[in-house]
Amino acid sequence: MTLATDYHLLVPTYSNDFNTCFYCGCIASAHDYAPPLQYLEFYLATREPSEFLQVPCCSECHDHLKACKAGTLDERRTFAKARLAKKYDKALTIYEMWTEAELATLDFSLRHSIEAGLKLGGETAERLGYPGFAYETAGLQHNMQHQPVSYFDVFGERFSTFREALEFASKAYRIPKNTLKEYFADNNNNFELAIQAIHKQVAEKEFNQQLKQQCAAFAKQHKQAVIFVHKQVERYLSENDDMTISEALEHLYQTRVKPQHPAKR
Ligand SMILES: [Zn+2]
Repeated sequence: MTLATDYHLLVPTYSNDFNTCFYCGCIASAHDYAPPLQYLEFYLATREPSEFLQVPCCSECHDHLKACKAGTLDERRTFAKARLAKKYDKALTIYEMWTEAELATLDFSLRHSIEAGLKLGGETAERLGYPGFAYETAGLQHNMQHQPVSYFDVFGERFSTFREALEFASKAYRIPKNTLKEYFADNNNNFELAIQAIHKQVAEKEFNQQLKQQCAAFAKQHKQAVIFVHKQVERYLSENDDMTISEALEHLYQTRVKPQHPAKR
């Protein structure tokens, strides 16, 4: 279970920064967590960099940051700003390209839409440039509610730090560290489950490629619609766990494709 008490509330030093989004300077109406609540256990267990802060933020930054797994304030700020820049890309371009003076030469409807873009682009540029504010945190030391696990197991090998375990598992199983780290966090902070999940996904991908290729070749050879072949083979395979793709295609040939009466010569 994750508890908000694992986090320090980030409190503005100056009162005029109260209720302000730390990331973009808009009015704050929510809290962001660095690290995210659902990855708290991961950060506690691995001691990956994080400040354990509860950060005042606006609802828009809050929404954008739902997709961010990073643990530090800096990383989360960079992520939130990149999302803002992407979302208001068009307005920012208008803001960069046009000046108020040039608007006079435009006809009404174009002027109207450029004006709106200029305003939005200007606001966005301000949010992107927002430097954050001076702050204090409620406690000096992070209060560890959960004792971190003292070792990490990777299929029989035991490591005392996450970094060593990650290094080993990445090399031994030829999985990029970033991928492995993500799966580790999403699989109960467990290397073995993470590696299994990755292998399963790779196997599924290969199987689907094989399925696609073999069905296409069969369809071409026997002048059948690819979608028909694909559907039938998938049905046979779902009805029979032990059947291979080739066997399913052979079954399809025998039952549905092979001419009932050989053509007379
Ligand atoms: Zn914001």
